[in-house]
Amino acid sequence: MRLTELYRSGKPDVSIELFPPKTPEAVEKLFETVEQLKSLRPVFFSMTFGAAGSTRDLTLDLCDRLKNRSKVETMCHLNIIGQSREETLRNLKRLKEAGIYNLLALRGDPPKDQPNFKPHPEGFRSSVELIEEAHRDPWFSIAVTGFPEVHPEAQDRASDIAYLKRKIEAGGCVVITQLFLDNSYFFEFIGLVRKAGIAVPVVPGILPILSVPQVRKFAALCGSTLPVSVERELVKVEGSEEGAVKYGIDLATRQCEELLKAGVPGLHFYALNRARSTKEILSNLRLGGVK
Ligand SMILES: Cc1cc2nc3c(=O)[nH]c(=O)nc-3n(C[C@H](O)[C@H](O)[C@H](O)COP(=O)(O)OP(=O)(O)OC[C@H]3O[C@@H](n4cnc5c(N)ncnc54)[C@H](O)[C@@H]3O)c2cc1C
Repeated sequence: MRLTELYRSGKPDVSIELFPPKTPEAVEKLFETVEQLKSLRPVFFSMTFGAAGSTRDLTLDLCDRLKNRSKVETMCHLNIIGQSREETLRNLKRLKEAGIYNLLALRGDPPKDQPNFKPHPEGFRSSVELIEEAHRDPWFSIAVTGFPEVHPEAQDRASDIAYLKRKIEAGGCVVITQLFLDNSYFFEFIGLVRKAGIAVPVVPGILPILSVPQVRKFAALCGSTLPVSVERELVKVEGSEEGAVKYGIDLATRQCEELLKAGVPGLHFYALNRARSTKEILSNLRLGGVK
């Protein structure tokens, strides 16, 4: 189903985000995981798009395999950072040839290990330009990112929301949010989004915590707050992978319960190529075909 047709049924639509693994063995393991996750009946799987050339091609290959061999609905993430217009147009063409219409249109971040990184002189300059380009072709349904805790580069909250509005006016039909570990950020964000006249579905991005160092790293990278109450629990499970996973399931379940009660139209899980946490959370919520 196209993104334009989702989030309308009155029941929350669940989607699952994956990333391209580094080795061929890990790719095969990922597709085993996809088979397990299929039973949760997600409305789509999405695949992230890397900063380097080879992983970008891998993303497109994996999306093709998801859509055409695993036969699951697929959304491809696409960024424009460091690429010429031609490369971006080629990526869009490849998606279309693979039958993929759902797209998360991103600018992307400059590689962290390249302090002197310069944008490609002949590339698209912003996510808005990519959205406008993709939107010219009615084939594509376009999701965009939203930042409940304000994007670290934004001047302030108001300019961040104004930029989100530009992304929607350019052709975005759904917002998927950055991770947050305190729902109050999401509720404040959604209030401001609606006040700004943005009417499209806004889907919270949910991170099931898998390890303490990992969540600390992700939160710092994304500019997401680690609430004191979460930090207190993380200290207790530091050094225990099982403890961290269990706490992650419990926290995400409680987050999702509150979000669903507030009427969110869907949940987007940052599954990090693992099945267990997403399965258990959906089972706790009695969602996704899990008994
Ligand atoms: C659901 C999700 C999935 C993601 N997947 C990927 C992925 O696959 N690959 C990847 O590389 N990264 C991914 N990211 C990370 C994302 O690229 C970074 O968060 C990035 O820093 C910003 O997101 P964006 O690319 O959508 O940028 P944008 O939304 O285009 O820009 C980020 C912010 O910068 C400000 N801004 C940018 N341009 C302007 C302008 N011209 N005028 C005024 N303000 C401006 C706005 O405040 C805006 O909110 C993902 C993020 C999310 C939330």
